Amino acid sequence: MKTVFVVGAGPAGMFAARKVALAGFNAVLFNRDVKPGGLAEYGIYPLKDKMKFGLRKQFAQILDLPNVYYFGNVKIGNGYDLTIADLDAMRPSAVIYTCGAQGAHELGLPGEHSKGVYAAKDFVYHYNQLPPYASQDFSTGRRIGIIGIGNVAIDIARWLLQDSPSRNTEEVTIIARRGPVEIKFDKKEIGYVIRHIVPEELTAELDRVRERCARVDEDVSPEAIFAEHFPMLNEEDFTSIPPRLSFRFLSSPTAVIASPDGRIAQLEVGDNDLVLRPDGSTKPVPNGQKAVLEIDTLIFAIGDMHDEQLGLPMGPNGYATQADPDHPDEPVFQVWDPIHSCALAGRFVAGWARRASTGLVGIARHDGELGAEQAIEYLQSQPEGKTLSPEEIFDSLEGRGLHPVTKADLSLLGAAEQQEAEKHHLNYFKYSDNQSMFEAIERERSAVASSRA
Ligand SMILES: Cc1cc2nc3c(=O)[nH]c(=O)nc-3n(C[C@H](O)[C@H](O)[C@H](O)COP(=O)(O)OP(=O)(O)OC[C@H]3O[C@@H](n4cnc5c(N)ncnc54)[C@H](O)[C@@H]3O)c2cc1C
Repeated sequence: MKTVFVVGAGPAGMFAARKVALAGFNAVLFNRDVKPGGLAEYGIYPLKDKMKFGLRKQFAQILDLPNVYYFGNVKIGNGYDLTIADLDAMRPSAVIYTCGAQGAHELGLPGEHSKGVYAAKDFVYHYNQLPPYASQDFSTGRRIGIIGIGNVAIDIARWLLQDSPSRNTEEVTIIARRGPVEIKFDKKEIGYVIRHIVPEELTAELDRVRERCARVDEDVSPEAIFAEHFPMLNEEDFTSIPPRLSFRFLSSPTAVIASPDGRIAQLEVGDNDLVLRPDGSTKPVPNGQKAVLEIDTLIFAIGDMHDEQLGLPMGPNGYATQADPDHPDEPVFQVWDPIHSCALAGRFVAGWARRASTGLVGIARHDGELGAEQAIEYLQSQPEGKTLSPEEIFDSLEGRGLHPVTKADLSLLGAAEQQEAEKHHLNYFKYSDNQSMFEAIERERSAVASSRA
């Protein structure tokens, strides 16, 4: 049977595997994390229970398909568990890379590597209990700056303002290089934290940038901006609650100032003017004014980038693909080899691995399915495969000293977590380190074996 390897079991990979399996081929998932789900499990806000439960159910149904195989706790890439060459040596008929965007942008700022400075994804992985981030130090102080003004920034602000167990937040400041007109978060997301905004403070900040925005014809009067992005602030009975959520527009970080213990103590920002581009969009340009903000924790929520260590050829926007010049706007899934100027036969990228940090789960799902369609089309012209069988793959992984987690293991883990949830009267329980998951799987396996004996 022809077999497609799918690298990464987030929404893109899971729905790609489903499509491949329903077309009658084997789909073999390799996933870095023990559990499937990617950012749907370890990124989406912990309290969005309904969405998370719904997605977990769909992922479980996909894993139930008899021709879908799963190997969790296996990371692909140079210097990781298996290289791409190791995968290719197992002779897959095609490979779809759906491993998301695991790298972080670095701005090259002085002090950027100080303690207390985090990439949003790592921070989000931490509070969503993904090993090993769950047990690493992501301590926060009282005044936290978040660079970026999209939904991820608001999710993190929500955690810090309302749900972080440390409960020491006094103020979260969202810092954006452009103006209020270019706010990227949705009304629904800001709705979760709007009570932390002090309307007079936001008005003062809008006044501070008003003249600079007016030069590019942007109306940032409180009337316009409240109506467009913060309608609740206009409600008569609106009252603010601590801790505070504030904004600083038209500012870019220029240096992290660390204290003698190496932890961020302040943030220097440079103010920006806006210039109009020919297409009507604006570009922030430093105007030479600097300010120092009293910030003791900094989180960069400026989008993710691809992990170069995976080993796929890189292009200007991540893993290399080549647009068809006749259809430049059509999505391209096939990986391109820029050195030999040719497409890589049977190798595809989809989801955030194709376009980093773009869109919601539904978009990643759709992208995974489109990538799978291309793989399926490619398979039609290919001879029967000689791929290692799932049993041989398992043995080969174990032979390398790896600890692959199978579909059967995931069922045992699910049962163990369900019992923990019931014991502690929780909606859901999840282990936050791999060792505890392995032990729970073994305990459950022994319990099942002895109940059968
Ligand atoms: C903070 C945050 C909040 C979000 N909230 C929402 C929301 O509320 N609603 C919504 O619809 N969308 C939300 N999203 C977006 C959604 O999570 C993404 O659209 C979606 O998860 C992307 O799917 P993906 O499969 O492309 O990548 P990912 O979800 O990142 O999955 C990648 C998978 O690949 C695996 N992997 C990574 N590297 C390797 C490797 N080297 N080898 C093997 N496996 C690897 C990972 O373990 C993971 O399972 C949010 C995103 C973030 C960052």
